[in-house]
Amino acid sequence: MASAAPTDRGRTTVLGATARLDAATRTSMARTFENPINRHQETISSSDGLAVFFLGLLYLIFEGLWNHVFIWLLIVIGPAFVFGPIVIIITLPSVAIAYALGIQEILAGRYLRNGWREVIAGGASPSSSSADGMKLCPYCAEEVKAAASMCKHCQSDLPPSAGLVGEST
Ligand SMILES: [Zn+2]
Repeated sequence: MASAAPTDRGRTTVLGATARLDAATRTSMARTFENPINRHQETISSSDGLAVFFLGLLYLIFEGLWNHVFIWLLIVIGPAFVFGPIVIIITLPSVAIAYALGIQEILAGRYLRNGWREVIAGGASPSSSSADGMKLCPYCAEEVKAAASMCKHCQSDLPPSAGLVGEST
């Protein structure tokens, strides 16, 4: 029983680190942008990287990234006119990888240029930690610990778990 507390604390720390890592991964893997006019949201994720990797030119056309359509053609097809069609086996995968890595920045830049705002995900609840494990004193309505049997504000005797704060969530 004595070892329960340290173990719990260790587990909480691990969970906390995992959550932070998860949040960091998510922010680097997926970014959400919102159109301030109609509140429409779109998310850029690693699937865009996969899409542009496999679809290449089709993806860029589909997204209407015309300057990148031009760049793609220039880099993939251009050298073929100089070195022969065989170099496409080098230029095509190179460009595919480059766009797979860079497409999120390209799309993000386009959203921001169009006046969209980036939605910062996971800025979640600064948590009701003050409410967790607290209850309201039925006599003075001050917040006291749920386990308290006497109010620290008005010194009234408290019923065991009456008036738990946030119980209805
Ligand atoms: Zn009280």
